[in-house]
Amino acid sequence: MENQIDQSVQIKAITTLLIANRGEIASRVMRTCRAMGIKTIAVFSDADQDAPFVAEADTAIHIGESNPSASYLDQDKIIAAAKKLGADAIHPGYGFLSENVSFAERCVAEGIVFVGPNAAAIAAMGSKSKAKSLMIEHEVPVVPGYQGEDQSLERLTKAAEEIGFPVLLKATAGGGGKGMRIVREASEIESAIAAAKRESLSAFGDDELIVEKYIASGRHIEFQIFGDKHGNAIHILERECSIQRRYQKVIEESPSPVLDEDMREKMGAAAVNAAKALKYDNAGTVEFIYDESSKDFYFLEVNTRLQVEHPVTEEITDLDLVQMQIESAQGLPLRLIQEEVNGIGYAIECRLYAEDASNDFLPVTGRIECFEIPEVEGLRVETAIASGSDISIFYDPMIAKLIVWDNSRQAAQTKMRYVLKNLVCLGMTTNQNFLLQLLENEDFKAGRYDTHFIQNKIDLSELSRQGEGAELLACVAATVYQWHHREQSRGLLKSLPSGWRNSFNDYQKVVYISGDTEYETKYRYKDGAFQFFAGPLELKARLIEVLDGSIRLQIDDTQYKFTVAKNAQHFYLHNESTGNISLQEKPRFPAFEAEKIEGGYESPMPSQIIKILVEPGQEVKSGESLIILSSMKMENTIEADADGVVEEIYATEGANVEAGFLLLKMASENS
Ligand code: ADP
Ligand code: ADP
Ligand code: MG
Repeated sequence: MENQIDQSVQIKAITTLLIANRGEIASRVMRTCRAMGIKTIAVFSDADQDAPFVAEADTAIHIGESNPSASYLDQDKIIAAAKKLGADAIHPGYGFLSENVSFAERCVAEGIVFVGPNAAAIAAMGSKSKAKSLMIEHEVPVVPGYQGEDQSLERLTKAAEEIGFPVLLKATAGGGGKGMRIVREASEIESAIAAAKRESLSAFGDDELIVEKYIASGRHIEFQIFGDKHGNAIHILERECSIQRRYQKVIEESPSPVLDEDMREKMGAAAVNAAKALKYDNAGTVEFIYDESSKDFYFLEVNTRLQVEHPVTEEITDLDLVQMQIESAQGLPLRLIQEEVNGIGYAIECRLYAEDASNDFLPVTGRIECFEIPEVEGLRVETAIASGSDISIFYDPMIAKLIVWDNSRQAAQTKMRYVLKNLVCLGMTTNQNFLLQLLENEDFKAGRYDTHFIQNKIDLSELSRQGEGAELLACVAATVYQWHHREQSRGLLKSLPSGWRNSFNDYQKVVYISGDTEYETKYRYKDGAFQFFAGPLELKARLIEVLDGSIRLQIDDTQYKFTVAKNAQHFYLHNESTGNISLQEKPRFPAFEAEKIEGGYESPMPSQIIKILVEPGQEVKSGESLIILSSMKMENTIEADADGVVEEIYATEGANVEAGFLLLKMASENS
């Protein structure tokens, strides 16, 4: 068997490719371009001027302000850049314009090769209702539900009753885990439909909904598909992506721990069916939800682009999916047939995010003070940050993708745990400790999980802390690190012992704050060693070596290396055994404390103000929406927590504000 060749397909040369994206995926695409001898052009926004992916490109061109709509989503600017610099192809990466029908059409109209599927295939899958209808026509199993044109409340309610509760309402135009709402019982359906329509309209500019049976225990298993312009289509095995929070993936692995050869073949065949139905001609992903107990699987959607988690597939097949994308876009036939697709070993990917797992996974922003990747055979890191990079409010908070390959699932996981313990990423809260906790979970190790695993099996309240023992070690390390730096700057007074010049018996005292716990750390330095009373512990410490940003010290009989990063408020420390710990030094004198303003509403994180929904003097009811904020692609609505009258508004639409910014003030009804 060979792939069929359609002689009428014109083969186009690509010598210069513009990447209409940013961050790690821009770097990823450029890597393949270099291997193929294709010149690369990066486009960048204000916020990305100093980003590594920009420096990595052969040519880089500024296209606008940081806000994506003024740069990475601005089709005119991107097309103009491509023409100005003579790009014969554009790779859209994922997100941004990657699944935008008019952009794909426009590239073709301008004579630029769009590295992705044909616009008709994107259009067919852009609507969840049309996608499902098409799949039903081609006998691909779909989740039982309603995806009709009649969007009246009566019809949708009737659909929900027929399907049986719980049901899932989905925005037809939705994506990225947004615009979904579970409805558990009939009494909630009316208000849920109204709310889902409102949300969908504001997020996607369209209020059409589909209603689906809610699969209570399902696994997200997706198949990589690939097609060419000659009519060939294959699947390149599956990725299991059930470890999710907020309907978004955190860990992906391949092969799935629950598919046997038989199921793989069945689901793979359905995926290829879907590809053929679409005349699919590039990289795509067919997502299924899989019911382990009944072995039923249902089509969810097709993502018509390269997927974030594509490296997992690359690691087990040794294929370069970006290269295959470029080849298909050029008009070349697929480089392999289905029978040649062969996975070897196991691969797993963890997404390192700037987010706080213990605070509802809210994204955080800030500067990555220190980023160090451990040297591990078989580890692949996809990232576009380096020490000193900023995680800004404008873009996705993903810091890096960590991918490991090994012969078996167990070996790959052992390796991943090692990587998660030894990777250094300091300067803000990340999900690194959380990822390690997932990898250490016995059910996860055994492959027993579904899409609700994080919600049901992980105690998120335990997450922000690493335990008293670990935190006290970090307090000791921070103290000695500080001591050393003071000592160095003491200059002329060097002959005197630091800090307690007159009385040897006095202990120096530092109080550190971790979460809401205070640790009193008392110490004195004598004869080359430190004697510590840290919380309830008495410890001996000896400084071995201090470098810029790290310290090696011996505490009792064990030597530790801590990587240390400091910013204005925090000490960030990392050690293989303690994980990431952040400490605040308690000021010696009671500091001026920002007073909470009564009736004040603050921005919970650094955000952009999208919309102000109220006016001064307006009466509002408890629960009413006041202001819509956006941070890293996430919308956040500030709601009134009591009835009252809006007194004053300090926010302005479009402005970027820090966490804690006072947005507005309300006077309560009875005051
Ligand atoms: P998106 O376009 O936002 O990615 P999907 O339809 O792919 O939307 O669904 C995202 C996630 O939501 C899935 O990975 C799965 O965890 C969950 N999900 C989707 N549909 C269902 C369903 N019918 N029942 C239960 N969970 C679902
Ligand atoms: P790199 O991508 O790091 O330059 P290679 O091209 O040699 O390295 O391999 C790609 C990846 O495939 C490596 O990161 C490695 O983990 C993984 N790998 C190694 N051996 C195999 C194999 N036999 N089959 C599949 N993947 C492998
Ligand atoms: Mg999806």
